[in-house]
Amino acid sequence: MHFEFSPEDEAFRQEVRQFFREHVTAEVAHYGFEGAHPVPRDVLRKWQKILHERGWGAPHWPKKFGGTDWSPLRKHIFLEELVNADGLDYGWQGTHMMAPVVIAFGNQWQQETFLPPLLSGDVFWCQGFSEPNSGSDLASLKTRAELDDAGTHYVVNGQKIWTSDAKIADWGFFLVRTDSTVKPQRGISFLLIDMKSPGITVRPIVSIDGGDGLAEVFLENVRVPKENLVGEPGMGWTYAKYLLEKERTSSAFIYFNKRELEKAKAIARAETLDGVPLLETPAFARRVAEIEADILALEWSVLRVLAQESFRDNLDAVVSTLKVRGSELQQRVTELQVDALGPRSLRFYDHGPGRAAHAPQPSEWDDLWPAYAPGRNNMYFFQRAATIYGGAREVQKNIIAKLAFGL
Ligand SMILES: Cc1cc2nc3c(=O)[nH]c(=O)nc-3n(C[C@H](O)[C@H](O)[C@H](O)COP(=O)(O)OP(=O)(O)OC[C@H]3O[C@@H](n4cnc5c(N)ncnc54)[C@H](O)[C@@H]3O)c2cc1C
Repeated sequence: MHFEFSPEDEAFRQEVRQFFREHVTAEVAHYGFEGAHPVPRDVLRKWQKILHERGWGAPHWPKKFGGTDWSPLRKHIFLEELVNADGLDYGWQGTHMMAPVVIAFGNQWQQETFLPPLLSGDVFWCQGFSEPNSGSDLASLKTRAELDDAGTHYVVNGQKIWTSDAKIADWGFFLVRTDSTVKPQRGISFLLIDMKSPGITVRPIVSIDGGDGLAEVFLENVRVPKENLVGEPGMGWTYAKYLLEKERTSSAFIYFNKRELEKAKAIARAETLDGVPLLETPAFARRVAEIEADILALEWSVLRVLAQESFRDNLDAVVSTLKVRGSELQQRVTELQVDALGPRSLRFYDHGPGRAAHAPQPSEWDDLWPAYAPGRNNMYFFQRAATIYGGAREVQKNIIAKLAFGL
């Protein structure tokens, strides 16, 4: 199979590339390169304002709401160039997860209230779906939302966990149980909650990479205006599934994998073994070639889905395959970087709790580490989670077995 971008799409790529070349600031590129999480709010805010000014604050939204109406292929090109330039993807949970649901199922008041501050970079969102005993089995979630006697507010009680960016979020979109008398999937609703509401406690979790971007969120008698319910009560499960359908190919993390492979190669060009660049040693070159071939194959699968040429009959199984393959490659490619760096990979993030907890403070030791070292070890550890978040690998394999092979 041969895949070629049209001259128009190539010209578009050049335009986007040029923009990022001129506008990705050193500060943004620093965080983008390291892959630190969470990125400080202020950095994200400034970056989002730059994108918004250009009209690219949320390219995947419909134009009517401040998006672009680009084709899936152009959105793909945009994200690829963004990652290549070490740009940041501002507030994924808000722009890619909350907004599509509010656009599709929310009312005009919700669209006018919640979308503009997201575009302008002034408000951050987190996603409160998972609970301590409800991850893969999300339909069993227990956080309750009950209407008060006046019928004006939901009163929410329960606990969420692994909530990314809760620490910096102003708002969260939550799946809550509003009806326990029906089948589990039918009793779940989609609620927008102000994270500053009385009764909310956010307790950061420091993950294995040293970052503290994850959190537990406790909700105790949190009062949420009824107007913040998106769509119909009991339809939260349907809306959450709609989200997954919107983001069919992103789970392959193809941009990430390609960029991290480039970083691995750059490291292996600079690091030497007996005076020979690692990239020229047969054993290492072979590993690089194997991963590169697998990334290329994955990229072509993604492009085929985007071009809607094939897989139409079994798209759900294909999406699960992309997730399994993409997440395994995220782990292999970051492992490659760490192996290339050897002990020098022990330089942790330049910023954040990772630095405080594990890394030497800035000192004369800094000369021992090349500029490309910070963050590689953190990234390697963080990617252990890639086969868990966004749908655990074993569950994806069950889906493939059932849908593709009828097992
Ligand atoms: C870095 C990170 C960020 C996250 N961010 C968010 C967020 O922002 N918001 C949010 O709501 N959640 C978030 N999550 C949670 C994530 O969605 C869950 O971790 C995921 O759904 C898995 O659920 P679990 O952790 O409860 O594991 P479990 O579902 O308990 O799974 C544990 C293990 O059992 C396996 N398993 C489970 N069920 C089956 C089965 N039926 N058959 C075979 N094997 C099975 C799984 O594959 C896994 O290996 C995040 C998680 C991580 C790690």
